[in-house]
Amino acid sequence: MLHICCAPDATVPWPELMAEGYETDGFFYGSNIHPAPEWRLRRESVLALSGVIGSPVGIAEYEPGRWVDATYEMRDCPEGGLRCAECFALQLAAASRFASDAGGYDFLCTTLTISPHKDPALINRIGAEVSSLHGLGWIERVWRKEGGFALSVARSLELGLYRQKYCGCSYGLRDRRGDFS
Ligand code: SF4
Repeated sequence: MLHICCAPDATVPWPELMAEGYETDGFFYGSNIHPAPEWRLRRESVLALSGVIGSPVGIAEYEPGRWVDATYEMRDCPEGGLRCAECFALQLAAASRFASDAGGYDFLCTTLTISPHKDPALINRIGAEVSSLHGLGWIERVWRKEGGFALSVARSLELGLYRQKYCGCSYGLRDRRGDFS
């Protein structure tokens, strides 16, 4: 099971895992995404990529209120801080639960480590912890290495996938704009 944070970031990990011999389905969490129209754009993009890859993707129910409840106390953390660590844990726990409930999955991996803005060691540590709680092995990867991020940009442009301009949550959007919208 590949946890997908967004379609552009999956354009490298998804085919790479399949080329390595893993039968790989996707899972999109999405409740960290704000506002809802932005979530719809990203969801449609993930579904489009799933069609290109030829593997199914599970789409979690959109529950932004639950994500906000879990991260509200960390709302003033800068991007890359504790709020993001909690966000990674929420996303990867949801993916682990989905894989475990569906059955038939042995391993979990994530697209998150393709980002040049995120800490891959932290993501891999959290992923190993939450996946083991659900009886899954963790596939540790740092997808941004060896030009992985640049390749994902090129592939997403080639496929015409929607490319967002901020990480996803309302706080990231606020910090980018410098206001509280
Ligand atoms: S900036 Fe990105 S990783 Fe951090 S909390 Fe927001 S959506 Fe999650």
